[in-house]
Amino acid sequence: MNRDYAERPVIGISSCLLGQKVRYDGTAKRDRWIVEQLGRFVDYQPICPEMAIGLGAPRPPIRLVASATQPRVVGVEDPSIDVTDRLEGFALETAAQLGAISGYVFMSKSPSCGMERVKLYNAGGHAEKKGVGAYARVIMHSLPNLPCEEEGRLNDPMLRENFVNRVFAYRRWQTLRATDLTAKALIDFHARHKYMVMAHSQAAYQRLGRLLSNLKGVDLSRVADAYEAEFMAALKRRIGRKRHVNALQHIQGYLKDRIDGGDKAELAQSIEAYRREEVPLVVPMKLLHHYFRRHPDDYIDQQWYLDPYPESLGLRNAI
Ligand code: SF4
Repeated sequence: MNRDYAERPVIGISSCLLGQKVRYDGTAKRDRWIVEQLGRFVDYQPICPEMAIGLGAPRPPIRLVASATQPRVVGVEDPSIDVTDRLEGFALETAAQLGAISGYVFMSKSPSCGMERVKLYNAGGHAEKKGVGAYARVIMHSLPNLPCEEEGRLNDPMLRENFVNRVFAYRRWQTLRATDLTAKALIDFHARHKYMVMAHSQAAYQRLGRLLSNLKGVDLSRVADAYEAEFMAALKRRIGRKRHVNALQHIQGYLKDRIDGGDKAELAQSIEAYRREEVPLVVPMKLLHHYFRRHPDDYIDQQWYLDPYPESLGLRNAI
């Protein structure tokens, strides 16, 4: 079950998070986990939309201001400076060139890059945290299946694990789409992600299965587009412990005639301890790996749920 993660996903990222001094005050906002941990397994494509449209650093600050239609990005000191159209135009151009990336990490709170809860000012100068950065909004709208997160939200272990899982899953999907699409390849992809998708949503797994139920004479590329949207939406759903327990118990079933009563009890106890929040997910996962190493099963060996991304990221130690 040792996977080869040699094919590194490329992740778009707000340049300041990598340590580039491109913020309005000429500073950076380097994120250590992103650079030093996740950066061991992915490549980054840094993009600073404000620099790209020629604002320079340092530069006068800008902010999001409510308007009758879409919020505008204007100067704090000189509101007659409005860079909304340039930011949106750059985002459209960039989105058209970002087809090969497998995820995006945005800098939070920025009027350009913030994904959510960006301060949105009204005419009276009062702000509510309900805006979306002008650049981020267009990127997310143009690439709806792309896994996107903000650096602040990635401090939450559950959101971090969910994002990294989606990035690696999307990379595998993109690899599949880059080849000549066949019905067999689609069905194979679906089979290998069975327990991963089931853990997120049983209903989504069934819907995905129905999409692939009769592929004779159909336009595979249209089926694949529908599959991609449903697959990525399913993986976005958070998984509670109950759902992981369900998936673990299904997989445990493949060992029932291969391990003795003592081993079965040990595995069941480990899953139960995880359910009771006494141990993290990595504990029953390790035990499953251990038993399947001793009693290999071809079908389980194929399941990405057991090894979705490089283990040394340690993400399952924290959920
Ligand atoms: S938040 Fe976005 S626009 Fe602001 S400095 Fe970072 S990359 Fe540039």
